[in-house]
Amino acid sequence: FSNVARVTTKEEKEPLWKDSMDRLRNIGISAHIDSGKTTLTERILYYTGRIHEIHEVRGRDGVGAKMDSMDLEREKGITIQSAATYCTWSGYQVNIIDTPGHVDFTIEVERALRVLDGAILVLCSVGGVQSQSITVDRQMRRYEVPRLAFINKLDRMGADPWKVLNQASEKVVTAGIPIEMEALAAEKRRELVETVSEVDDKLADAFLTDEPISTSDLEEAIRRATVAKKFVPVFMGSAFKNKGVQPLLDGVLSYLPSPTEVVNYALDQTKDEEKVVLSGTPDGPLVALAFKLEEGRFGQLTYLRHDLLLIPRLVRMHSDEMEDIQEAHAGQIVAVFGVDCASGDTFTDGSVKYTMTSMNVPEPVMSLA
Ligand code: GDP
Repeated sequence: FSNVARVTTKEEKEPLWKDSMDRLRNIGISAHIDSGKTTLTERILYYTGRIHEIHEVRGRDGVGAKMDSMDLEREKGITIQSAATYCTWSGYQVNIIDTPGHVDFTIEVERALRVLDGAILVLCSVGGVQSQSITVDRQMRRYEVPRLAFINKLDRMGADPWKVLNQASEKVVTAGIPIEMEALAAEKRRELVETVSEVDDKLADAFLTDEPISTSDLEEAIRRATVAKKFVPVFMGSAFKNKGVQPLLDGVLSYLPSPTEVVNYALDQTKDEEKVVLSGTPDGPLVALAFKLEEGRFGQLTYLRHDLLLIPRLVRMHSDEMEDIQEAHAGQIVAVFGVDCASGDTFTDGSVKYTMTSMNVPEPVMSLA
């Protein structure tokens, strides 16, 4: 059980672990099938320099033809279909956690949502808002996950992002306007303002009038409203273009919360399952949720979210590569080897008997002590 606080010095106003937590985003990408979730994930990794090759696909959209679909599935599987991967953007670490797009509330979906601090909902500008888009959005809402929407495939013939935006405002997101574009129907605007003004007058004013508002004030207002789940900023673009993907990534950093801004709690088994708020500081007890088990080349791998651990082997995963790490701080996604547990188990350092919940069903406590 290592302590990250020891790397800080007295001169620093904010300890390093705090700075590194502020510069962390744990996000999921959710979508109706075929909206471009896989493509977007891969392009994010590509445009941030995390991977150096992308696959031109001969899909329904008639793009390129470098691989047959078998090869592609295999390659893509290796590239992104691991439980979690990450990239670095503008000095921030963005962990992308695989959110299974199942139609129903399975325990696996719930558990994946449980470890997210924010999400991107991908919508297709041709296909529009579809039933599964509504389902995944409802799941995120239920788990109170702040989110951005990305209306994808703007490069395609027949793309109608405005229609999709209006559909989205009605069916999915509680509120939202495109960040760069204001041309929203007056009626929609008013509705939005009402929602937003509960959170932020300044933001409401900016949308209602043409009063100038500084970009930083506006950004801050949007950020607060988004984190409060009162607002869903909408981006439009094409996953194939860095001009589509990079502003979206900037949006992830600007508007979605870091682990320090999200309240995480556990249930105290010694106090009748009383809710305890987890501090996220290095002096707090270790509490980590095993949210996914994977049988891999190296044996059983357990993906954990949360605190500080010293166990047989601690790694950070990126597709099928792994990097050994010595320690991790609150909010990080790590994987461990050589630990026998079930998905949904809570790990603690033995000083507390807490359980993290998924599906609101308390699950057994594992002690590493
Ligand atoms: P998923 O099922 O949501 O993971 O969707 P995929 O990422 O597999 O994409 C479905 C199809 O849409 C593939 O043929 C992609 O090549 C294509 N696609 C994804 N994003 C874009 C885009 O921005 N523009 C165009 N034209 N096609 C896209």
